[in-house]
Amino acid sequence: MNNPPTLSAVVLCAGKGERTGLPYNKVLHRIGSKTVLEQTLDTFTRIPFERITVVVPNAEMQVFEEIIKQYPNVCAVTGGATRAESALNGLLAYRSDIVVIHDGARPYTSKELILRSIASAAEYGSGVAAVRCTDTVKRIDDSGKIQSLDRSRLFNMQTPQTFEYDRIVQAYRTVKELCTDDAEVYERAGYEVKLVDGEYSNIKITTAGDLFGIADNCRIGVGFDVHRLVEGRPLVLGGVKIDYSRGLLGHSDADVLIHAIMDALLSAANYPDIGVLFPDTDDKYLGISSVTLLEEVVKLVRDKYAITNVSAVIAAQKPKLAPIIPQIRKKLASVLGIDISRINVSATTTEGLGIIGSGDAIAADASCILTENNRK
Ligand code: MG
Repeated sequence: MNNPPTLSAVVLCAGKGERTGLPYNKVLHRIGSKTVLEQTLDTFTRIPFERITVVVPNAEMQVFEEIIKQYPNVCAVTGGATRAESALNGLLAYRSDIVVIHDGARPYTSKELILRSIASAAEYGSGVAAVRCTDTVKRIDDSGKIQSLDRSRLFNMQTPQTFEYDRIVQAYRTVKELCTDDAEVYERAGYEVKLVDGEYSNIKITTAGDLFGIADNCRIGVGFDVHRLVEGRPLVLGGVKIDYSRGLLGHSDADVLIHAIMDALLSAANYPDIGVLFPDTDDKYLGISSVTLLEEVVKLVRDKYAITNVSAVIAAQKPKLAPIIPQIRKKLASVLGIDISRINVSATTTEGLGIIGSGDAIAADASCILTENNRK
């Protein structure tokens, strides 16, 4: 074995997934802005695998190729008639010292878990993710008699399941019994299976309920801000400088739209607001471009979440904003790192009412949805 060992991964996506009730492969289901498979590959591609082989049904090869072409070092091979055949097809596509085998339908696996399984395989020959059973499990014999099992000795197997490459390939070539996971094949070939701590969040998407469960990973956020309009200041909204006789008063450039968006993002991600993060008593932020602050917020938020969409409204009596809005959306999309279709901005007047209606202030409201991405 090389030091450090060479690494590859096999991601199994060839199952039918009939229990989800979806008319298409469950790994192609979207979670927020990305498919289950993309979420899985986003995590896997953060580890230096020489090759990641995705095993896919022959009939869906084209759809899968469309997805995986965005990732370097990821290739697709077709699956076989059984799980074992599919796994072996994937394994034979690329040889390395250590190979990680993973269910494509487990998008919430963390990078740390994959690394734990690799470290175990490098030391002991195998590293299989497992969590202790939380349910009580009973066995029913042929006569219908129920026997309670000692829960402290029971584990639920997960993936990643990671092995010394040559051993698992030899195991798949020799073991002919029907096995439900790679660890069983390895064990039947006479090798010892080493467990590593799995994660309860590392669920396998199996039923329609699991897909609904994904919605629980979405977080909504709202933000609001208002600044006074004064003479002698530039007007900046959404990072775009607007030609107008007055500008917004504030410690930074007073970009009220970006301030509302930052608070929405921070609120959704459960962080303190911009008043706490960037206090106006700190000279560091005097006259600073709010785009710079937004870049910091985006970095913070994207550590745990994908930005699914942002929606904002600007309340201003003057100037007329409709012609500038496409430019504002374009600028914000680039800073947020999302497609322009995921950021919408509208503008309204307040019909002459209040401090906004008199043209002495501009306000902005923003909402966003973040989706947990498990990219730690
Ligand atoms: Mg503000």
